[in-house]
Amino acid sequence: MQKYTKTSITAIFLITAYLYSPAQSAQPGRYNQLSKSSYSKQKDSLKKALVCPVLFKKKETQKKYKEFWDSRTDFITAAIDDNDFTREPAMYNYVSEILSELVSANREYIKSYPLLFIDRSPSVNAYAIGNNMVAVNMGLLSFSGYREEIALALAHELAHNILMHPENSMKERAELLTSDEYINDVKSVLDSKYGRYSKLKKIMEGYSFSHNRHTRYHEEEADSMATILLKNSKIAFAPGFFLRLDSADLVYKTPLKNGTKTYMSDLNINVEETWMRKGTKGLSNRNYSFSQGEISDSAKTHPDCKARYEKLLPYATGNTLTPISASLKADVNKSIIWSLFVNSNLTSAFYRLLLEKDRGNFDAWHKVMAAYIMNGLFYADKKLSRFNVINIRSKEYISSNYYELQTMFEQFPRDRLESSCKECFNQPFWQQASADERSFRSLLAYLNFTGEQSASEIKSMRKEFQESYGQSLYLEFIEQIK
Ligand SMILES: [Zn+2]
Repeated sequence: MQKYTKTSITAIFLITAYLYSPAQSAQPGRYNQLSKSSYSKQKDSLKKALVCPVLFKKKETQKKYKEFWDSRTDFITAAIDDNDFTREPAMYNYVSEILSELVSANREYIKSYPLLFIDRSPSVNAYAIGNNMVAVNMGLLSFSGYREEIALALAHELAHNILMHPENSMKERAELLTSDEYINDVKSVLDSKYGRYSKLKKIMEGYSFSHNRHTRYHEEEADSMATILLKNSKIAFAPGFFLRLDSADLVYKTPLKNGTKTYMSDLNINVEETWMRKGTKGLSNRNYSFSQGEISDSAKTHPDCKARYEKLLPYATGNTLTPISASLKADVNKSIIWSLFVNSNLTSAFYRLLLEKDRGNFDAWHKVMAAYIMNGLFYADKKLSRFNVINIRSKEYISSNYYELQTMFEQFPRDRLESSCKECFNQPFWQQASADERSFRSLLAYLNFTGEQSASEIKSMRKEFQESYGQSLYLEFIEQIK
């Protein structure tokens, strides 16, 4: 039995500090922070708590209402099962603290602490689920520059809940779809011999027009209530955020500092210019001018940004804004890259890596990810699904750099891809990688470069990984391997 001396305790402390600081903080979260396990308690209580109230005497309407109600519950529980949410502490706590501030200053509107979800979606959004539940996307955390911007988004969604918008819209839809007017309208179309399609279209346009007008009214209501919630919480309201939101859909239009070839050679991957130009016969080669500018309003996630800005400008309060720390931003962006990778969205994942490189955030983890993404591309190619993982985006939404990368991923010849992938796995930076990262590399290498694979070998590698690294982030990918 060894006696602990002062030096050995120091040594243990140093080893512990080494084990827990650099390697782990470099990874964006752990496996147990993903939704399936970390939201399991919420999932169980949700099912019990979300009992559909009886609101309608008319049987059909109540039935319709319950349908909407239950599909909302299913949506949340399915999202938990699909690992769509994260509880990565840095992100979760940051948002949760803002939420606490809003809630405790607005007790007359919000009786109990809302259930908060951090949605792993990269799209710049937050949403109200109703019944005191709100969700904030990682994309919003990545896009926002200031704490107050997240507070505004949260206040807006809380306002939807306070004003019962989600519940009311379920109610109204149930009423509409079971109303005599609607049923007769649809029936008259079905009964008519000619022009059914155009008649139906006309009816639908009428309903969707009133729905849109309705939604816009809800948005305005939520906006003005949000300013009240912020004011009560003494959180500055900066309407300028609405103007910034106007460019929320431009992430992949952000140009890179260098050409794709440069980034690739930094990663020791040699590529040829011709792969970045579409040469395939039959496909359109028409020149396209990639502008850095606008996306048409109808294609935006958030239209009416300017109108919202102008309307709320008089309610601006304070101008001291708290920037979101660079380390949190880098962490969120890592999480987004990982999520895109797991969801086989490889071009976007890689492009975000390069954007991070331009921002000066490129550590060992980013290099590891670049190697995984390239290997993921080759793995998909072997499974004949290269196009799926490239996930082509249309030119309107991307920069010429993105187009170049996307085209290169398409044109990269298979044999060259294979040798590049092997090369990626042999770089010196792997010495800085953590044990689970190296083990995940071995598994991918086995899948990619072994001629005769055995299902039992894959199974045992997966089992070994699970046993050795039960909380590793990479388990999320490894579990998907068949
Ligand atoms: Zn809204």
